[in-house]
Amino acid sequence: MTGTGSPATPGIDDLTRPYWDAAAAGDLLIRRCADCRRPHHYPREFCPHCWSEDVGWERATGRATLYTWSVVHRNDLPPHRDRVPYTAALVELAEGPRMMTEVVDCPPERLAVGMELTAAFRTGEDGVAVAVFRPA
Ligand SMILES: [Zn+2]
Repeated sequence: MTGTGSPATPGIDDLTRPYWDAAAAGDLLIRRCADCRRPHHYPREFCPHCWSEDVGWERATGRATLYTWSVVHRNDLPPHRDRVPYTAALVELAEGPRMMTEVVDCPPERLAVGMELTAAFRTGEDGVAVAVFRPA
């Protein structure tokens, strides 16, 4: 799948392959720096806090809180156009990093800043599992 990617899923390369393999197995991975011990997400080859290259993977708990969101009513790009309305969200992982994702199984009127969420995985038509979040 090298070099593939679609509007729904970012490209998969040697750096991010462990992340996508874990997602397919239902695990959310983040990166943690061995020097300053701070986590980050999305995956980078160096620590965005101290620039160390001694960065490794760790399994996240999958717990998060809702930081901000936007209910998308129109998106003409497949596969999104078949799913509107959906809730694009920025969530704060229990480990600290924030990630762009989607909140599912929650009507927009129930969304609230700080609400507890838990990771779930949705496999798209391209066979790639992406992390989404639902109310805990
Ligand atoms: Zn660091």
